[in-house]
Amino acid sequence: MHGLIMDRALRIIDILRHAKRNFPKVEIISETLEGFRHRYTYADAYARTARLAGALTRLGAQPGDRIGTLAFNTYRHFELYFATAGSGTVCHTINPRLFTEQLVYIINHAEDRWLFVDVCFTGLIESIAPQLNTIEAIVFLADRQHMPTTTLPNVLCYEELLDDEADDFDWLDIDERTASGLCYTSGTTGHPKGALYSNRGIVLHSMAFGAPDCISLSMRDVIMPVVPMFHVNAWGSPFAAPMFGARLVLPGPKMLDGPTLHSLINEEGVTVSLGVPTIWMALMQYLRDNGGDLEPMDRAIIGGSACPPALMDAFRGYGVRVRHAWGMTETSPLGVLNTPRPEFTDWPVERQREMDTRTGHGVFGMEMKIVDENNNELPWDGEKFGALKVRGPWVCSSYYKGEHSSAFDEPGWFATGDVATIDSYGFVQITDRTKDLIKSGGEWISSIDLENVAVGFDGVAEAAVISIGHPKWGERPLLVVVPEPGATIDKTALLEHYHDKVAKWWIPDAVEFVDEIPHTATGKISKLRLRERFKDYRWS
Ligand code: AMP
Repeated sequence: MHGLIMDRALRIIDILRHAKRNFPKVEIISETLEGFRHRYTYADAYARTARLAGALTRLGAQPGDRIGTLAFNTYRHFELYFATAGSGTVCHTINPRLFTEQLVYIINHAEDRWLFVDVCFTGLIESIAPQLNTIEAIVFLADRQHMPTTTLPNVLCYEELLDDEADDFDWLDIDERTASGLCYTSGTTGHPKGALYSNRGIVLHSMAFGAPDCISLSMRDVIMPVVPMFHVNAWGSPFAAPMFGARLVLPGPKMLDGPTLHSLINEEGVTVSLGVPTIWMALMQYLRDNGGDLEPMDRAIIGGSACPPALMDAFRGYGVRVRHAWGMTETSPLGVLNTPRPEFTDWPVERQREMDTRTGHGVFGMEMKIVDENNNELPWDGEKFGALKVRGPWVCSSYYKGEHSSAFDEPGWFATGDVATIDSYGFVQITDRTKDLIKSGGEWISSIDLENVAVGFDGVAEAAVISIGHPKWGERPLLVVVPEPGATIDKTALLEHYHDKVAKWWIPDAVEFVDEIPHTATGKISKLRLRERFKDYRWS
């Protein structure tokens, strides 16, 4: 027997309709590429989102079409999030920091029909445009006055598209499982893979995001994502802010700019902000050099990489609580978040501090388990560590277009590629990674790609790339090389060999020569043993 409860679909556009009705005067504030601070309200955002949906329809967008964005955190990108979802199309957020080959691959793979692009990426788009197979037009996120001079054919002006449309739109009555967003993530091997989000998943994720003991978002909050809107939807904050009536502050192209972040926090009264450790370390450096405080800020959500305890201490010094979090592109991304439990209050301060460094506890909706190499579940005793698997209503069930991945080998579970312990309080601690990737400043570098380039260099017999902790970037790649007998390899020439083959920020920071690289029983390079050997390595 079914309950007698209405079957209202969970739709992303209803979040913005809710904000327009209930929080019409609450502001969205953006730093812009034009160089000024833009502000408008949820009511304004709704009207412009409706105009955009009208424009998409007039362009000929059909339900299910993918619409690419190459853009920073601004109000126009926010409008794209909602107009696409409301019109049944898919917002494919693209990371402009990817190497051009990867950009071309994912745009073609997604079969994007239009690209909505910040003007600062004109050169980038011009360089790849001839290789894009499905793009019908490039829409620059600008008004006529700020349109770039470009050789690109079929260029449109965002503000002109909106000018011709109405302030409301007949939103599609979509099934809640309809795809809403697409974000590619680097795989250990092969091409990047697409995580395809749904209306239902995003709405449930937003509700969990705002819950007490999670990010605890309210009308009294001012939230600033310093994590890009091209990476897992800025951790879901642009959806959660209008749901809970929080003011939304978007740092535009100034994500790594200490003075801008500092002034946004203080002038706009930011109470909660999200970002990877590298971002926060840059802000702390700015504060150390220039003075200043973080008076309005109550909590910093730090994730994407392990948060160093020293960074937590630095935030404490400014009266800001740190909430360590873990998530993935494939988990929308919220997975676990560290809020201290009431029983910890009576513990000695050192033990409380130690608990704060844990990765966090599960959020309702996110089920977790750790397993051994035979997929047997391990106890939550805080000691046994195993591969972390998750499942839940905002976790991917497969990759876009059914791309195969062993991560989905166990039906109903997603293998994260992370290794963790879970204690009796349900607190997860990420201890290692099985996926062969390096996370630098919150972005992935494929060690396998770097190894393949190195072995193409004269005199290299074998190469392995491992991640080494770095004070600024969290991790950086170290290239370990076995030279061929009698060969002399020039380190600078070897590193220069990378220049036209990978993005500049991927290039290893250093090369170490060894006589032998350790292997596993199956003949694979043993990264575990190599990491162990270089565990005391220090960048000079
Ligand atoms: P992405 O899909 O790019 O967001 O990356 C997700 C991955 O980042 C996870 O699978 C982890 O390997 C890593 N990660 C995210 N948060 C943390 C954290 N708090 N501690 C350690 N690793 C993390």
